[in-house]
Amino acid sequence: MKMQMVDVVGQYQKIKGEVDAAIHRVLDSGQFIMGKEVGELEKHIASYLGVPHAVACASGTDALQIAMMAMGIGPGDEVITTPFTFVATAETIGLLGARPVYVDIDPQTFNLDPSRIAAAITPRTKAIIPVHLYGQPAEMDPIMAVAREHGLKVIEDSAQALGATYHGTKVCAIGDVGCISFFPSKNLGAFGDGGMLVTHDAQLAERMRMVAAHGSRVRYYHEILGVNSRLDTLQAAILLVKARHLDAWNAERRRAAGRYTAMLAGTPVTPPFIAPGREHIFHQYTVRAPRRDDLAARLKERGIPHAIYYPVPLHLQQAFAMAGNKQGDFPVTEQATLEVLSLPMHTELNEEQQVFVCDTIREFYAGR
Ligand SMILES: *Cc1c(COP(=O)(O)O)cnc(C)c1O
Repeated sequence: MKMQMVDVVGQYQKIKGEVDAAIHRVLDSGQFIMGKEVGELEKHIASYLGVPHAVACASGTDALQIAMMAMGIGPGDEVITTPFTFVATAETIGLLGARPVYVDIDPQTFNLDPSRIAAAITPRTKAIIPVHLYGQPAEMDPIMAVAREHGLKVIEDSAQALGATYHGTKVCAIGDVGCISFFPSKNLGAFGDGGMLVTHDAQLAERMRMVAAHGSRVRYYHEILGVNSRLDTLQAAILLVKARHLDAWNAERRRAAGRYTAMLAGTPVTPPFIAPGREHIFHQYTVRAPRRDDLAARLKERGIPHAIYYPVPLHLQQAFAMAGNKQGDFPVTEQATLEVLSLPMHTELNEEQQVFVCDTIREFYAGR
């Protein structure tokens, strides 16, 4: 059976007419940089999330870096985050000369464990970056409470969770800044790289816009050092079309996740835990699986795509040796890296494919 981890082409085929028309409008306009679609997309995403300000940029990674630059985070500062995430979350902290300070995760949600944050705060701590991993919101209320108590900024890494809600509020709209990625495989994916920052704070929005545009408000007048981080008009036009489908697509992912969970009942794998008050949008459907690597080999044999997000926690990555961590520092995270397995999850996934995946898993544990 032919199956993909993510089916970006299948999704495109369904909306090809709309997308192609949008692309041709941009090609005919010649406004490849800073065309009107960029501003339209900023307005659309801001209103979708219920925040007043949105600033487009070139990627989710840039969004994280720009947010921290706009907050003045740099050498000598510390930023608290999770070691169980994509590298970009901590890489951008390190690139700015600050130090990532990790806090272990909750074993059920795989997100930052808020009860461990206070102990990690020092006089050098400037911000907390929770990640809404796999599409499930982190536990924002206690994170915001501890941040406010200590005067820290909160940057939501919402790269995997656009459209997810926490007690009815969309992620990105809870912290000081929300960072979005439009990487093609994300729930709202461009046909290339793209990102966005959102905030309730007008001053911070202006500063982020300035940082993303070479530190300038008026062209060729540079007030601060910035970066070149723009969203292409073409990507913005494509995203404007796709954004109208996001809620329906997220609902499809949730339905597919529900089918997986029902079909996997009675097997030794632990399905995703959905914490109370949260709407998980299943960027990934990730289980904990005993004998994970053997199961992964069986899936591979049967032609079933799968992935391990993430095999090495950030505190044990060579690139972060400067942070001074060692094996055993974050045992919940280390255990998760040995057990997690993500199954195919996308809007084109059908029930027949899911039956095949789950039958294969069942047979594996039955010793057949
Ligand atoms: C994808 C991702 C990013 C980076 O986004 P890019 O657009 O690829 O730069 C950052 N954090 C997390 C958790 C991600 O999944």
